[in-house]
Amino acid sequence: MTIKLNLTKNPITVAAQEIQSSTDVKNWYTALAENKKDFVKIKSAGKSLLGKNLPVLDIYKGSKKNKDLIVLLTRQHPPEVTGYYAFQSFLTSIIENSSLSNEFLNKYRILAFPIVNPDGVDLGHWRHNAGGIDLNRDWSVYNQPEIKQVVEFIAKNTGKNKKILLGLDFHSTWYDVFYTNKTRKEAAIPNFEIDWFKALEKNIPNYKVNEQSSNSKQPVSKGWFLYGHNAVGITYEIGDATPKDSIELIGRISAEQMMNIILNNEY
Ligand SMILES: [Zn+2]
Repeated sequence: MTIKLNLTKNPITVAAQEIQSSTDVKNWYTALAENKKDFVKIKSAGKSLLGKNLPVLDIYKGSKKNKDLIVLLTRQHPPEVTGYYAFQSFLTSIIENSSLSNEFLNKYRILAFPIVNPDGVDLGHWRHNAGGIDLNRDWSVYNQPEIKQVVEFIAKNTGKNKKILLGLDFHSTWYDVFYTNKTRKEAAIPNFEIDWFKALEKNIPNYKVNEQSSNSKQPVSKGWFLYGHNAVGITYEIGDATPKDSIELIGRISAEQMMNIILNNEY
């Protein structure tokens, strides 16, 4: 493909996906939390290498004492905005005014990180942060300030009676796919993947789950959730060209079914 541009003195931005900058992300979650301040708290995990905020939404109803956690991550990889759209739909469904959501948030707590790599996003990087590192290869030694502080924030909020049940990391790739861990017997919810994928196929018209299962040999978040926390870890990938209405639907149904499964099994 060839693109011809008439250059002027003004900068021109060329992007293959819609741009969702750190400011766009902030505008989105600020509006989302509006009128829900009693149970959606906007906090900060720290600052990126270039000093940009690392926001986190801390979501629960009642006391946070003894609540197990679900952790949501996105934008480790800057241009993967279709995964971010699924994250938006997923999170919106969790905090909407429904009896399911209400019951869920009275029992469980969500930590949602809407932009883990704000420097990379605003600089238009493909996979790296401002340190030139792929953040989804830093989940063992935490050399990069973004992952180090996200991990510290999570660690500070976990403990004996508040363990992580599930970690979902939203990305984009060629097609929709869920990358799961092969090892799952020891995980907090051993049958989660089987139950969840069955429920998605049942509740999304003409939808076939594409699951690729392996034990990660690289330090990615999926493995960190399992090896570090005995939690179910899944890389939730949306296709680069998946239509927006499909993403909205998959995001919403996958959130509802996640809540159903966890509540029905009383983990
Ligand atoms: Zn990715």
